[in-house]
Amino acid sequence: MASIEMKNIVKKYGDGFPAVNDISLDIADGEFMILVGPSGCGKSTLLRMIVGLEDITSGDMVIGGDRVNDKAPRDRNLSMVFQNYALYPHMSVYENIAFPLRLAKTPDDKVDRLVKEAADVLELHEHLERKPANLSGGQRQRVAMGRAIVRQAEAFLFDEPLSNLDAKLRGQMRTEIARLQRRLGITTVYVTHDQTEAMTLGDRVCVLRKGSIQQVASPRELYEQP
Ligand code: ADP
Ligand code: ADP
Repeated sequence: MASIEMKNIVKKYGDGFPAVNDISLDIADGEFMILVGPSGCGKSTLLRMIVGLEDITSGDMVIGGDRVNDKAPRDRNLSMVFQNYALYPHMSVYENIAFPLRLAKTPDDKVDRLVKEAADVLELHEHLERKPANLSGGQRQRVAMGRAIVRQAEAFLFDEPLSNLDAKLRGQMRTEIARLQRRLGITTVYVTHDQTEAMTLGDRVCVLRKGSIQQVASPRELYEQP
């Protein structure tokens, strides 16, 4: 687990107005932070700079006490769950979850233990031999989370992970993600434009607007403000 500290982070694409404009935000070890705001406010850009998929124009990104500005994604030990889940259709659920471990040349017995632990937590043990096409949307979402868990990363990053699900499933997965995060106690940054997710999932909510922080507060404080 690791804290994430952002110091005066700026991101400019070309000459226009910065997509992220001088953001400073400290996320504590084990904290669940929501990034919320209208489309185009810079949420994804910020998340991609944390994971290392986007260069930082200026400022410092510090993860677990280390400045990571110049570190490649593979050296940051973070785990990102994408909106489209990015599952491999030709692989079984088991191999989809195992994928990052295979890349890291993890021994088979350790792969087996970690995949089965993740499948237990996510209630996927009965589906390990199936292909993604034969799963429901919620199960696919869980496979994507399983892949994130087995990496044993220092933090989870979610980019609108529930936006492709129907309303009922979204509610169910919301509960599951909250439960999973509490159980693992892993630092989490979760991007959404959904007010319900923002108000129910996180320890704190960071409201972004046009690349800047408008407010950082607990859901309760946001709810109670006039
Ligand atoms: P959000 O995730 O909140 O919808 P983004 O981080 O995707 O916002 O985008 C923030 C701003 O940066 C927007 O104005 C968007 O058009 C711009 N932007 C995002 N990605 C790129 C890119 N690759 N090239 C140029 N502009 C971009
Ligand atoms: P390659 O190393 O073959 O270029 P990728 O482009 O898929 O592989 O990924 C580069 C590095 O980024 C990987 O080694 C991995 O550590 C990291 N990475 C890939 N996917 C994720 C993810 N979802 N979350 C966090 N890090 C990732």
